[in-house]
Amino acid sequence: MEGGPVSWFVAPNPGGLTLDGTRCYAVGRDRIALIDPGPCIDGQIARLEKLAAGRAVEAVCLTHAHLDHAGIASLAAERFDAPLAASAGTLERLGVHGRELHDGDPLPVDLGKSRLTVVETPGHSSDHVSFLLEPGRAVFTGDLVLGVGSSAVLHPDGDVGSCLESFRRILSLHPGRLYPGHGPPVEDGEGRLRQYRDHRLERHQQVREAVRAGARSIEELRRKVYGDLEPELRSAADASIRAHVVHMRTQGEEVPEIGGLDDLNPTPEEA
Ligand SMILES: [Zn+2]
Repeated sequence: MEGGPVSWFVAPNPGGLTLDGTRCYAVGRDRIALIDPGPCIDGQIARLEKLAAGRAVEAVCLTHAHLDHAGIASLAAERFDAPLAASAGTLERLGVHGRELHDGDPLPVDLGKSRLTVVETPGHSSDHVSFLLEPGRAVFTGDLVLGVGSSAVLHPDGDVGSCLESFRRILSLHPGRLYPGHGPPVEDGEGRLRQYRDHRLERHQQVREAVRAGARSIEELRRKVYGDLEPELRSAADASIRAHVVHMRTQGEEVPEIGGLDDLNPTPEEA
């Protein structure tokens, strides 16, 4: 699919958290940066080759280490003979070497008239970055903001305070189009960011009220906030509730003992 110097495909890894699949992007005209090469599944390298269409790949960039985005990163870097470029946290989690990205860094890739800059956006995960494409102020948002629905903030990797701060940060850039890691591009970037911020604040308020109303376990809180959920959705909902309870504490609120707060979910490799 084409959108100016941006093209992409959707990897065939649909699911509850990946929506229709992971979006893998190429940015540039003659030389490109790949953003989130995607999961390590059959045919993924061939899909990336088709996306690159014979152009030189200058860097394989990652928004974060979740394997639905980065599972094939090393193989892709090898195939295209290009460096990996990601936050220190992402490189460490994946156990790979690459170019460490910091907030404000321009990516050292020759994209003609376009320029990509790193925006540190922790929240969905602590190692998460986004990429600002200029001109046009399009933002590749990874899993911070999705094309449809809301994104997951799952304790312990996800952090509500960081997430709200990252929404504010991207809003302050007056973004144009958003290119999310899942779901279609969003034309009204600012509107979507405000929606995400409001949704997260509203969810936080719901959890606070449920605690104030006497809920004393993660399960009780989940029932009050989400109602009756399908069993396969409960673990993610619980991790989200935990993230909100932890945020209450970091905000300095007195929070009573909440049963199950410290039962950590295994850190998801995909989300
Ligand atoms: Zn993720």
